[in-house]
Amino acid sequence: MAYTIAVLGGDGIGPEVTAEAVKALSAVKPTLQFSDALVGGAAYDETGNPLPDDTLALCKKSDAIIFGAVGGPRYDHIQPPSLRPETGALLRLRQELNLFANVRPAITWKPLLHASPLKGDRGRVDLVVVRELTGGIYFGKPSERRDNGTTAVDTCIYSKAEIERIAKVALKVARTRKHEIVSVDKANVLETSRLWRETIDEIAAANQDVKFSHLLIDNCAMQLVRDPAQFDVILTENMFGDILSDEASMITGSLGLLPSASLGGDSDEPEFGLYEPVHGSAPDIAGQGRANPIAAILSAAMLLRYSLKDDKAAERIELAVEHVLEAGLRTADIFEKNSKLVTTKELGDAVAFKLMSP
Ligand code: NAD
Repeated sequence: MAYTIAVLGGDGIGPEVTAEAVKALSAVKPTLQFSDALVGGAAYDETGNPLPDDTLALCKKSDAIIFGAVGGPRYDHIQPPSLRPETGALLRLRQELNLFANVRPAITWKPLLHASPLKGDRGRVDLVVVRELTGGIYFGKPSERRDNGTTAVDTCIYSKAEIERIAKVALKVARTRKHEIVSVDKANVLETSRLWRETIDEIAAANQDVKFSHLLIDNCAMQLVRDPAQFDVILTENMFGDILSDEASMITGSLGLLPSASLGGDSDEPEFGLYEPVHGSAPDIAGQGRANPIAAILSAAMLLRYSLKDDKAAERIELAVEHVLEAGLRTADIFEKNSKLVTTKELGDAVAFKLMSP
């Protein structure tokens, strides 16, 4: 089947790193078809809209999206704020495409173990955070006013259906890994967390091939630093996931290495997804060939795994990245003594070369 992938490079280093992700995808699957479209500040400059109708239409008819990053100081003061790249493009895309599940792996690569802020082997992680992305306190009704400027209210709302559908995504991820899920909540305090826990218990009872356990958010945050290797799949709600996925990702050492998938679409068992590096548009290094393309390349591997159901091709990309790191190639952000400093393109070329070698 000929799949079509929408490529939304965006701003700053976005187009530089997505070019390397496309290169890796083409090397591993030459039949893929790519269509580029404008997004973010680049789209605003050209059309006055950070998410032009053509771009949205292309995303809707594609099988998956490769996304770079949007935003930058030039666009921080656009009025109204709904036209700023992060809100007007990325958040709108998540809403328009119903991308309700955020999947963020955090892996320490053996050749980069020293980059973890945790000492030696304690920094070894290979886990995935599955975060609910379109519900909870970030989407509850915010307070319309602050009484005397001294009180404010945000509401956290979750429905059973929202919890069930994100749990199904976590089950899918767990079944490609160790069949273990730690569900994180604050059930000793919050009613939404009690509903979360009851719902997860029902799902666990119906899916006994996967081992579920519960952990309170405060304990989980502490355990992630104490012994991150104990985790495989962490399943949690929107705000807890926001915090835990950043905590987990920092253990790996560099922002330039972290991929992500936002899954959703029309089905509760999503195959459609937007794949993007965790980092932003890094205006400080844009256009200099200094961006690390690994996060974008690993996002392309996730696209193969989750949207195109091609685990083998995904693994080939991951192994090629590991090979290049083992060979000592490094972009500036992960450079160390005795390694070889390369540009964004040179690192992407090395990954593609490995993929095309017999
Ligand atoms: P950032 O992630 O762009 O950069 C933070 C630091 O990490 C910078 O020093 C940057 O040079 C470095 N860095 C990031 N990615 C790197 C890579 N691949 N290789 C090497 N170094 C890398 O975060 P920021 O500076 O807070 O934000 C810059 C802009 O990006 C802002 O406008 C922000 O709103 C936007 N942003 C967009 C997204 C997105 O599109 N998903 C996400 C985060 C931030």
